[in-house]
Amino acid sequence: MIYGQELIDELYQKRILPKDKLIALLQAQNPELDAYLFSISQRIAIEQFGRRIYTRGLIEFTNYCKNNCYYCGIRRDNRHVQRYRLTTEQILNCCRQGYQLGFRTFVLQGGEDPYFTDQRMEEIIRQIKGEFPDCALTLSIGEKSRDSYQRLFDAGANRYLLRHETANDAHYAQLHPPELSLANRKRCLWDLKAIGYQVGCGFMVGSPGQTPETLAEDLLFIHELAPQMIGIGPFLHHQQTPFAQQPDGSMELTLFLIGLLRLMIPNALIPSTTALATIHPRGRELGILAGANVVMPNLSPTDVRAQYTLYDNKACTGEEAAESWAQLQKQMHSIGYCLAVDRGDFKPEVHGTQQK
Ligand code: SAM
Repeated sequence: MIYGQELIDELYQKRILPKDKLIALLQAQNPELDAYLFSISQRIAIEQFGRRIYTRGLIEFTNYCKNNCYYCGIRRDNRHVQRYRLTTEQILNCCRQGYQLGFRTFVLQGGEDPYFTDQRMEEIIRQIKGEFPDCALTLSIGEKSRDSYQRLFDAGANRYLLRHETANDAHYAQLHPPELSLANRKRCLWDLKAIGYQVGCGFMVGSPGQTPETLAEDLLFIHELAPQMIGIGPFLHHQQTPFAQQPDGSMELTLFLIGLLRLMIPNALIPSTTALATIHPRGRELGILAGANVVMPNLSPTDVRAQYTLYDNKACTGEEAAESWAQLQKQMHSIGYCLAVDRGDFKPEVHGTQQK
C-alpha cells in the first residue's frame, strides 16, 4: 500500500476529510500516489461524462481593470499593457465564428472595467442570447453587487466564474491590495448561487504564500460552497507585476488537485486550463487524464490576444479559433477523447456504476 492511498480512499467515500488529513494527503503527493489517484479520478470523469470533453469559447472582451491584484498582468498599475475593449459587434462576430465551429457555450471574461455598466452588459447578453438561443452564456467579470448579478441573470446569463483565489484571509491579503477582501469575494459567490447561476470558484496552484494548510482550506471551502464548476491552474509569474520574481506553480500539484476535486464533486465541470497548457506542452491532455472534462479555447480576435496577458508566455495567443479547435480535437483524439458540440450544463450525478 502506497502512503496516502488510504486517505484517497477515504476522500473518495466521504467526499471530504478533516483539515489535518487533507494537509497530510497534499504532503504525500508523489508520482506513485498520482497514478493511484488518477486511476480513480479518470474513471469517475468517464462515468460522469463519457470520453466527451465540453468546450467553452472564451472571449476576452476587455483588458481594462480597476483592480490591482499583485499576481495579474492586466492589473491597473501595469502601464505597459495596451488596453482594448471589443465592441458588441466584435463580440458577436466571435460568437458567430465559434458557433460555426461547434461551440455552444460562450464565456465573456474581462478585467473589472467600469465602462461595461450593467446596462451595457444587459444589452450584450440580450443580443448574444437572441442570436444564439441554444447556447449557454457564462460571465467572468469580477465582483459586483447582488442587484447587478440579478440584472445580468435576468438578461439571460446562465453561469458565472469567479475564482475565490484562496480561502484563507491572511493569504488573500498577500495576493491582493487592502481594498479587496475574501469576505466580499465569498459574498459574491454565495449571491451568485442564490440567484440561480451555475457557479464556478477556484484558485491558482502555487500562488505566493500558499501552503498545504491554505490549500486544505480551499478544499474545505469548495466542499461547503458545492460549486458546479471549479477552475484551477498553476500560478505563472508576469514580469510586470509585483510577483515577477516569484516561482511558478507546479504542474504536478495542479494535476493532483484536479484529481482530488474530481473525487470530491464527481459531476463538477473542471477545465484543463490554458495555464496548464502553458506550463507543459502536454498540460492540457494531462489535465484531462487527471479528471478534468472541459477545455476553454480562445475565441478572441487574434490581434488583441497578446494584450490579454495575465502571465508570461501564455499558450495559444496566435492561433485562429478554427486552428485551435482542430488542434484541440487532435490533442483529445491522441488520448482517446473527443470534443463535444454541447452546452455542457451541470447535470445530476450519475450513480450506481462506480466500482472499486
Ligand atoms: N476579473 C475577473 C475576475 O477577477 O474574476 C476575471 C478575469 S481574471 C484575470 C481571471 C483569473 O485569472 C483570475 O481569477 C486568476 O486566478 C487568473 N490569473 C490572473 N493572473 C494569473 C497568473 N499570474 N497566473 C495564473 N493565473 C492568473
